[in-house]
Amino acid sequence: MTAWMLLFEGIDPAKERLRETLCTLGNGYLATRGAAPEHSANAEHYPGTYLAGCYNRLRDTVAGQVIENESLVNLPNWLPLTFRAEDGPWFGQAGTDILDHRQELDMLRGTLTRRLRVRDSAGRVTAVTQRRFVLLRDAHVCGLQTTFTAEGWSGTLTVQSTLDATVENAGVERYRGLSSRHLTVLNTDPAGEETVVCVVETNQSHIRVAEAARTRAFHGGKLIAATREVFHEPDRIGHQLQVDVAPGQPVTVEKLVTIYTSRDNAISDPAIEAVQRLEWLADFDELLDDHGLAWRHLWRRFHMSMSGEHARALKVVRLHLFHLLQTLSENSVDVDAGVPARGLHGEAYRGHVLWDELFVFPVFNLRMPLLSRALLRYRYRRLPWARRAAREAGMAGAMYPWQSASDGREESQRLHLNPMSGRWITDHSHLQRHIGLVVAYNTWQYYQVTGDRDFLAQFGAEMILEIARYFADLADYDHSRDRYVIRGVMGPDEFHTGYPGNADNGVDNNAYTNVMTVWVLLRALETLDVLGAERRTELTETLRLRPEEPQRWQDIARRMYVPMHGDGIISQFEGYERLDELDWKAYRTRHGDVRRLDRILESEGDSTNRYKASKQADVLMLFYLLSADELGELFDRLGYRLESDTIPKNIEYYLARTSHGSTLSAVVHAWVLARKNRAQAMQYALEALDSDIADVQGGTTAEGIHLAAMAGTVDVLQRCFAGVETRGDTLRLNPYWPPHLGTLEFVIRYREHPLTLRISGQAIQVSAAPGRQPRLRLSCRGESATLGPGEVVSFPNAGRR
Ligand code: BGC
Repeated sequence: MTAWMLLFEGIDPAKERLRETLCTLGNGYLATRGAAPEHSANAEHYPGTYLAGCYNRLRDTVAGQVIENESLVNLPNWLPLTFRAEDGPWFGQAGTDILDHRQELDMLRGTLTRRLRVRDSAGRVTAVTQRRFVLLRDAHVCGLQTTFTAEGWSGTLTVQSTLDATVENAGVERYRGLSSRHLTVLNTDPAGEETVVCVVETNQSHIRVAEAARTRAFHGGKLIAATREVFHEPDRIGHQLQVDVAPGQPVTVEKLVTIYTSRDNAISDPAIEAVQRLEWLADFDELLDDHGLAWRHLWRRFHMSMSGEHARALKVVRLHLFHLLQTLSENSVDVDAGVPARGLHGEAYRGHVLWDELFVFPVFNLRMPLLSRALLRYRYRRLPWARRAAREAGMAGAMYPWQSASDGREESQRLHLNPMSGRWITDHSHLQRHIGLVVAYNTWQYYQVTGDRDFLAQFGAEMILEIARYFADLADYDHSRDRYVIRGVMGPDEFHTGYPGNADNGVDNNAYTNVMTVWVLLRALETLDVLGAERRTELTETLRLRPEEPQRWQDIARRMYVPMHGDGIISQFEGYERLDELDWKAYRTRHGDVRRLDRILESEGDSTNRYKASKQADVLMLFYLLSADELGELFDRLGYRLESDTIPKNIEYYLARTSHGSTLSAVVHAWVLARKNRAQAMQYALEALDSDIADVQGGTTAEGIHLAAMAGTVDVLQRCFAGVETRGDTLRLNPYWPPHLGTLEFVIRYREHPLTLRISGQAIQVSAAPGRQPRLRLSCRGESATLGPGEVVSFPNAGRR
């Protein structure tokens, strides 16, 4: 790995799918896995092309139950390109050998390059250089350029370039027993001399998708008149081009592809648009220049550098930013799509949108608020479904689904397969009601960073108020305690779906849910305050908000129950202390990796519900989301005391009882440990960095990146180690930056100001770019300052190591 490159030498069939995920190229509208163009899906290779928000629903009968799953659809593969020397075998088929192979993911320019040499059964060797992009500037365009150089032979080279609509969703082994064919092929046709078009429609959601491909050959930079034939098979269309080659005289074949759907704006028909767009498209190299420029601009806005040790860490952070920006970018702003937990890089979680956006928003709020706003509008458009779900559950307000996709109904699977036992098991994850708290939290954070009152007034407030309403209704007043309680939910830790012997009904008083409910109710009250009188009246009337509702929110925010046990331990939920301790040592000895303890125990006829064992941070999420000050204030208000040692005690307690079965866990633990135990924090930060590049969960990255963990590592740097907090109309800085890491420099946007932050062991410097924006308020450990465009402010950082 060089500073901006990910290099892969040779081929390792067992790791090919992992490599395909890591080498995915995308532009926020669509993404294509880094699969070899000469292969269709097989045991080693899995080409996949996914469009943000393009879902389809299929039905199956499993274990006697009819189930429906909505999936992000794998669209026709636009990559296929292979060749043969004379009448030899096609590359990729029996009779061709790869002599050497090198693959380079260039994150700076957003390209993937392969260099290889191929020998066929007649001994003819051909050198191949293949470059590709998924254009950032024009989201509908992809390109694959292949240069062939004959080594010691001359004759005819035939190149086959196709669009393949035979694809299915078959990227996740666990889903293999379920239906997988989402596409109906409408037509595959030639469209003019150099172009073919393939039109498909998803078979339930009826999204029409057209792909058109133009293939041309060049010699010495000049277009050559290759002999050309249309290649047509059921559900596949393309061209075969024949060109003469001679040693040392490279021939280049360019395949440019356009993709449009019936959901796109500003087009009439996707097929017409795809073909027309190709007609006036520049050549590969010119497009590549534009693409490189667009990436340079993007990298300027997402600049991050580190001068000291851990240069590798910085590169991985760049890889994470790269994939984040390929999943979500300005091209996503006009698309009705949320944050897919596994990127647009694979099929795990079926492209669904979960709470992972909690970890993703801070990166975009502080750099591309337009995108955050678009992502919040994805949630806003689904408010009617969330209201309906609440009503069906007998509740007021809006109940957001744990897993969301096209229309906002609950998409969590009802059954999931435990690959260890082969059993289909009831899935309870939809009991994670805390998802709504995340939607409200993100809305508020967006408002805090941007000060965008228009958005808050027009969209955000309605979500916050409806979510507050739902949680206020979920809270019951318990006379015996004189406190409010929330029963029958799941916290972020998915290992506790209920109490021992009753796995189905959730747990009572999940501390995280209860405390964050209080936080959201307070923000709902603040929202009512912040809105101007006119909008407040409108919303109160529209939502038929009764005066006693905000009063009840006030009351709950003073008397919510938070379970505790032992000496200052916040119980993950009520009754947690009565669960058995797990013999971690014994399980680790027996199984090695116990991350997925739930699967291990289920396969042994046991259940995680019986043990003090968590998949990921749950109580500790409170320390992740709320600063010690803010949490202390909340506890005071509730009449509880947050002692000075409460946080470290809880960290130690839960850390000893967590399996880290989610990549999110390492992010949260790195964060919460940063203040007290920097060495241990670094260990978790490094583990989070390895989530995908080292595939720490043993095979899951092949099914898609872990977007939240990727974003989380960036956020750990900016908000945890660099201590950036946006609260109370002030940019607060409280770094805990390990000095041996040198100077950390990064760019953020706060209240419309592009700011460069430089944090070293000695000083914290904030520089504002020139402009006309109003002055900002800053504070750093009790010192306050204001900052205007073009100015620089420094605070000392010595003594805080
Ligand atoms: C985690 C969830 C997360 C999901 C998708 C699961 O393993 O437990 O918290 O939302 O993965 O990333």
